[in-house]
Amino acid sequence: MMPLILIALAVVGLLIVMRREAGAAAAAWLLVILGLIGVLFDAEVTGFVLLIAAGLVAVCGLPSLRRRWLSPRAFAMFKKIAPKVSDTERTALEAGSVAWDGELFSGKPDWNQLLAYRDDGLTEEERSFLEHQCSMAAGMCSAWEIARERADLPPELWEYLKKEGFFGMIIPKEYGGLGFSAKAQSLVLQKLSVNETLMVTVGVPNSLGPGELLLKYGTEEQKKYYLPRLADGREIPCFGLTGPRAGSDATSLPDTGVVCKQEIDGDEVLGLRMTFSKRWITLAPVATVVGLAFRMFDPERLLGGEEDLGITCALVPRNTPGIQIGRRHHPIGSPFLNGPIHGKDIFVPLDTIIGGPEMAGEGWRMLVECLSVGRCVTLPSGASGTARYALGWTGGFARIRRQFNVPVAEMEGVQAPLARMAALAYISQAVVYQTANMIDHGVKPAVPSAILKYHLTEFQRLLLSDAMDIHGGKAVTVGPRNYIGIGYSANPVAITVEGANIMTRNLMIFGQGAIRCHPYVLKELDAKDKDDAAAFDEAFFGHMGLIFGNASRAFTQAVGFGKADTPFDAVAAPYARDISRLSAGFSLCADAAMASLGSQLKTREMLSARLGDVLSNLYLLSMLLKAWHEGDQVEGEDKLLHYSAIYLLYHTEQAFVEIFDNLPRRGLAKTLKAIVMPLGRRWYMPRDHLSKSIAQLVSHHTPLRSKLIRDTWDEQKEGQKDNPLARYTALLAQYDRAEPLYRKLNKAYAKGELPVDALHPEERVEAAHRKHILNDDDTAFMREFEAEVLDMLTVDDFAFDAFALDKSKVNWHGTDVDQSETGGLSGAAEATPEVNSDRETSRKRKPKVSVNK
Ligand SMILES: Cc1cc2nc3c(=O)[nH]c(=O)nc-3n(C[C@H](O)[C@H](O)[C@H](O)COP(=O)(O)OP(=O)(O)OC[C@H]3O[C@@H](n4cnc5c(N)ncnc54)[C@H](O)[C@@H]3O)c2cc1C
Repeated sequence: MMPLILIALAVVGLLIVMRREAGAAAAAWLLVILGLIGVLFDAEVTGFVLLIAAGLVAVCGLPSLRRRWLSPRAFAMFKKIAPKVSDTERTALEAGSVAWDGELFSGKPDWNQLLAYRDDGLTEEERSFLEHQCSMAAGMCSAWEIARERADLPPELWEYLKKEGFFGMIIPKEYGGLGFSAKAQSLVLQKLSVNETLMVTVGVPNSLGPGELLLKYGTEEQKKYYLPRLADGREIPCFGLTGPRAGSDATSLPDTGVVCKQEIDGDEVLGLRMTFSKRWITLAPVATVVGLAFRMFDPERLLGGEEDLGITCALVPRNTPGIQIGRRHHPIGSPFLNGPIHGKDIFVPLDTIIGGPEMAGEGWRMLVECLSVGRCVTLPSGASGTARYALGWTGGFARIRRQFNVPVAEMEGVQAPLARMAALAYISQAVVYQTANMIDHGVKPAVPSAILKYHLTEFQRLLLSDAMDIHGGKAVTVGPRNYIGIGYSANPVAITVEGANIMTRNLMIFGQGAIRCHPYVLKELDAKDKDDAAAFDEAFFGHMGLIFGNASRAFTQAVGFGKADTPFDAVAAPYARDISRLSAGFSLCADAAMASLGSQLKTREMLSARLGDVLSNLYLLSMLLKAWHEGDQVEGEDKLLHYSAIYLLYHTEQAFVEIFDNLPRRGLAKTLKAIVMPLGRRWYMPRDHLSKSIAQLVSHHTPLRSKLIRDTWDEQKEGQKDNPLARYTALLAQYDRAEPLYRKLNKAYAKGELPVDALHPEERVEAAHRKHILNDDDTAFMREFEAEVLDMLTVDDFAFDAFALDKSKVNWHGTDVDQSETGGLSGAAEATPEVNSDRETSRKRKPKVSVNK
C-alpha cells in the first residue's frame, strides 16, 4: 500500500510542480522527501527509486549541475538539428510584434493582457465619415455598370473619392490625409465592400504601397512632396513586386537597378538603370507614381559599398521615359484597375529610392514590416464586409422566397448554411475589428496578419458559396439585378493576393509563429548563431520547464482539474477555459513537432498547416470572446456565440486529431494524444437546434440581424443606386404582418374559398379581397408587399446576341429571332445592352420601400 501511496503522491506533486513551472529544485525536494519517507517507512525499493529520480532531476535541472553535464551535450545536438534560418526568413521573423499570438504559444494565456487592449471606438470625425462619405460612395456604385458596362468606377465616384480623401486614410493630418485609426479604416473598407472594385480601389492605396512606405521610411523631402499629393488623389499609387518569375517567392525577383552615372542637362547625375517586368499590379493602368521592388547592384562600387545591395524599393514617376504602363489585366469577376508594367534600361536618379540611398538593400525588410499591419486590415475587412452584405441579402432572400408554400428560410436544408453564414460573418466582424483595435494600441501583428488573411478570405469563399446556393437561380443569372454573382466570381482574387492562401496556411502561419511567437525558440536559435552556451542553457532549460508545464496543464485541464481562471461571463467562460487548455496542448505539440522533425518540419507543410490551424482557431475564438465581453450584446446573440465558439473549437480539435494521426513518430503521437485529449474529443459541430434558431434570427428583422449588418450601406436615399440590402430590410420589417396574411390566403385557397385558377399570390390577394377574406388595409398592404417581393426575385434577360463581343461570330441557330433587335455589349465602346427582366411590369414600377430600421 505504502509504495502505491508514495507513487500517487509523487505523480500529483510533480504535476503541481510542473503546472506551476516551479523548477527542478522543487521537483527534486519533493522526490527526496517522498524517497526518505519510503526508506524510513518500510517501502525501501520505492524510496530508493524516488531518491534516484531526485538525483536525475537535480542533474538535469539544477543550473550548477546541468551546465557541467547536460547543457554542452544538448547544445551540440541542437546545433545539428536546428533549422537554418535564412536572411530572408530572419527579416520576416523580426518584422512586426508579438502579442496575443505569443500568449497562445506560451500555453498559459493571460486573459488580462488581451482585455488590456480596450476598445476606445471611433472618433466623431471617423464615425461621421463612415456614415456620410462612405454611404455616399457606396450609393454611387452599380455592380453591373462597374463590372460590365464601364469596367471601372464612374468618373464622378473617382472624383468624390479623391475629394473626400479616401486615398489618404493612413496618411497623417499634417500631410493632408485623414489620419484614421486602423479600426476606422477597417470599417470604411467593410462598408465599401458592397462593391469589390470600390473596396480594392480604396483599399490598395491605403495598404502596403508607396503611402505606407513613404510614411515609415521616406526622406522628409519625399514625404513633403508625395504625401499631400497622395492624400488628395493628385497622385495615384501602385506597388509592383510581382513579376512573371517571382510570385509567392517574391524575393527571387529578377528585376534590376544598376547604379550608374548619366548626363542630364549637362550635369552628371548618379542614378539607377532599371530593367523590370511586373504583372498583376493593382491600379497600375492609372497610377501616376509606381512603387517598384528590384534587386540593386553597384558593380562599379560608385556608392562605395557592396556590389549586390539586395532588394530595394523606389518610387518611379509614370512619365519616366521608357516606362511601359497602361495596359490592363482583367481580374476575374471584378475589373478593378490592374495591369503590367515594364521598363528596359530606364534611368532614374538615386533619390527615387524610398528613404534615399541609405535605404538601398532594405527593401525586403521594409515590405515585411509594412505587411504585418496592412494585411490585417485590407483583405480581412473586405472579407468581413462581404460576409455581412452576403448574409444580409441571403437572410432577406430566404425569408421572402416562398417554395412549397413556405419561405425557404423555414427549410432545414437552407437553415444549415444560413446559420453557418451567420457564424462566419459574426466571427469575421469581431476578429477584424479586435485586431485593428490592437493595431491602434501599437501592436504590429505579423502572425495574426497571416491568420486573418487566410481564414477570413476562406470564410468569405465558403460563405459566398452558401449564399449562392441559397439564392439558387436568382444569383446564377447575370445582370443588373444580380447583387451577389459578381462578388462571388471575384472571390479568388482575395484568395490569391497578399500571400496566396495555400502558402499562407501551409508555410507562414505556423512557420513564422513557431519561431516568432514561441517564448524560447528564437532565443535558442540566436544562441546557436552566436555560439553562446550560457544563453542557450538559459533558453533551453526554460523551454524544458515550459514543455513539462504545458504537458501537465494540458493533461490536468483535460481531465477536469485546475481549469484556468478567465474574466468572462458564464456564456463565454467555458470557451475561454478551453482555449487555455488547448493552448497548453498546442504549445506542447508544437514543441514535439519541432523537436522530432527538426529542420524537416519546414517541408512537412501538411503538419505545419494543421498546427497553424490550431493556433488560428484559438486566435479567432479569443477575439470573438473579447468582442462579446466588450460589446453591446443583443437578443439571441448568445446562440450565435455558442455556435461560433463550438464551430471554432470543433475545427481546433479536428486539427489536433489530424496531427496525432499524421505525426511520423507514432509513439510520440500516441503520447501527445493521451496527454492532450485523454478523454477523446470534446467538441462536435454545433447542434441542429442552434442552426435553426440562428437561421430564424437572421432571416427576420431582429436586433441580431441589425447588429450583423451594422455599419454597412443599408439605406436607400434619393439619387442613390438600388440598394438590395435596404430593400430586404424593409421587407423583413413588414414580414410579420405579411406572414399571417399569406397563411390566410393559402388556407382559403385550400378550402376552395378562392377560385381554383388563382395560382399567383397577386390573384389570390384580389380574389380574397373580393370575398372579404382580406380587408382593404390588408389588401393594399399585400399588393405592395407582394409586388416588392416579386421585384426582388426578378432576374434579367438580354437580346440573343448581347454577350457576343464579336457579333459576326453569333450563331443564330436558324431561329426566327429578330436580328435587328440585338442587344449590345458589342465591344467595350458600345452602350448598355438592352436589359429586360422576367417581369417587365414589376421592373418598371418604382419600388415603394420605406426602410424601417
Ligand atoms: C488581381 C491581382 C492583383 C494583384 N495585385 C498585386 C499588386 O498590386 N502588386 C504586386 O506586387 N502583386 C500583385 N499581385 C500578385 C499576387 O501577390 C501574387 O499573385 C501572389 O503573390 C501569388 O503569386 P502567383 O500568383 O504567381 O502564385 P504562385 O507563386 O505561382 O503559386 C502557385 C500556387 O502555389 C502555392 N505555393 C507557392 N509557394 C508555396 C509554398 N512554399 N508552400 C505552399 N504553397 C505554395 C501558392 O499558394 C499558389 O496556390 C496581384 C495578383 C492578382 C491576381
